[in-house]
Amino acid sequence: MIDAISIGIHPTTQSRINELDLDNLVFGHTFADHMFVADFDGKEWTDLRIVPYGDMPFKPALMPLHYGQAIFEGMKAYKSEDGEVLVFRPYDNARRLNRSAHRLCMAEIPEDIFMCGLTELLRLDAQWVPQRDNYSLYIRPFMFATDEYIGVSPSKTYRFIIFNCPVGAYYSKPVKVKVETEYVRAAPGGTGAAKCAGNYAASLYPAKLAQEAGYDQLIWTDGKEHKYVEEAGTMNFMFIIDGKLVTPAVSDSILDGITRKSIVQIAKDWGMTVEERKVSVEELIEGIKNGRLQEAFGAGTAAVVSPIYAIGHEGVDYNLPEIKPDNFANRVKRYLDDVKYGRVADPHEWVYQI
Ligand SMILES: *Cc1c(COP(=O)(O)O)cnc(C)c1O
Repeated sequence: MIDAISIGIHPTTQSRINELDLDNLVFGHTFADHMFVADFDGKEWTDLRIVPYGDMPFKPALMPLHYGQAIFEGMKAYKSEDGEVLVFRPYDNARRLNRSAHRLCMAEIPEDIFMCGLTELLRLDAQWVPQRDNYSLYIRPFMFATDEYIGVSPSKTYRFIIFNCPVGAYYSKPVKVKVETEYVRAAPGGTGAAKCAGNYAASLYPAKLAQEAGYDQLIWTDGKEHKYVEEAGTMNFMFIIDGKLVTPAVSDSILDGITRKSIVQIAKDWGMTVEERKVSVEELIEGIKNGRLQEAFGAGTAAVVSPIYAIGHEGVDYNLPEIKPDNFANRVKRYLDDVKYGRVADPHEWVYQI
């Protein structure tokens, strides 16, 4: 399958690998030498190539700059003790990218082009995957419209790109979150389940207001009544209630996170009861008051888990129980890290070796 795909490989003559300073990495500011690029010409994906990471010319009428046909993914590669490059669940990202493409009326990318491009890119940039505990290579696949036209209609042409950023330890200190009861991230029938650029643009202003009020992040609630919790900032939201793992069921307003579904699977493997259902704000606050809510945390690729120490609702802050090293959130993070770095068995075959 992968042999049938031919990729033009144009390695850089000026590698920047010697400038890589792992001790001073800032998330998302350091880019590996190369990128994979493919163009959809209206009929098929053509001109598959790996080229130096760098500028791309475009005209002001480029459609996504006006109407937002732009989608992305985020995943990570890890280097094992033996120097193997391991990617966590990349097929799931490829499938989700295509679900986002479908919702935004964009071309879909064949899974073998995604995987073959990723594999060749990581072979070429293997030195950019840091071999250091807690470090990884953040991988950013994304796609955008490339027609130059300002009529409102789906673009006929698209570009798919993968580029990489080495990233350091993301020590997520516990966060204080605010339950959002005015603004909405995603409405029923909207694009909340798609990983599209516009969802992020719409979240920035409410997030800024929350930060100005002293919170680290928002808890998004449902768009109809602000009664049910949906997501934690740009992560999925999970709780331990009476020893059970409880998390909002995915829907058209909740992103189907890969960290979320991995944690759901691990909890089941560990013999825990898992409930994927609606979770009301009231249930959480009652749970904090009567001690049944033991933990709350966000789950996503960047931080893996982000423990929550306090939840604010309508001007009142409710403190959660003390976060201990053997909390579920911390245990599941350690276990997931062990799987990702190839330190333990991988019973669900989540790790893809380059
Ligand atoms: C990407 C994302 C997540 C987390 O998904 P992962 O696959 O676990 O990284 C959760 N919520 C939103 C809105 C996201 O965009």
